[in-house]
Amino acid sequence: MSARPIVLLVEDNEVNQLLTASVLEREGFAVDIAANSTQALEQLRARIPDLILMDVQLPGMDGLSLTRRLKTDPATAPITIVALTAHAMTGDREQTLAAGCAGYISKPIDTRTFGRQVREFLPRTVAVSRPARTDARLNGK
Ligand code: MN
Repeated sequence: MSARPIVLLVEDNEVNQLLTASVLEREGFAVDIAANSTQALEQLRARIPDLILMDVQLPGMDGLSLTRRLKTDPATAPITIVALTAHAMTGDREQTLAAGCAGYISKPIDTRTFGRQVREFLPRTVAVSRPARTDARLNGK
């Protein structure tokens, strides 16, 4: 097991990729990035993450279809998948859960709370050691 929990971020928007990955790295995660479903499947052959953050809207195969596919494959079915959705509307939670997601986090992400939100979805077996918080006072909290 990695000392740093591994997150596979599946996100096609480059700005969101950079922002989300930098927040995750600051929060003590190791981050793999995939811009679409094909890249995600390649990344998953390279290494199995502790958690997948899945953008729902992707070019080609969408995030929920990819989630359903991963949940039918014994090699990837145990991985916790959390949807990233720009549509936090009624019914979305049910859709993500029905696809096999453990839950969802709304976009745009809140950079102050995102690390905590992601950690709450980590499997209990994953050791989480947070880095020293140097950003607390920068945020005025
Ligand atoms: Mn997208």
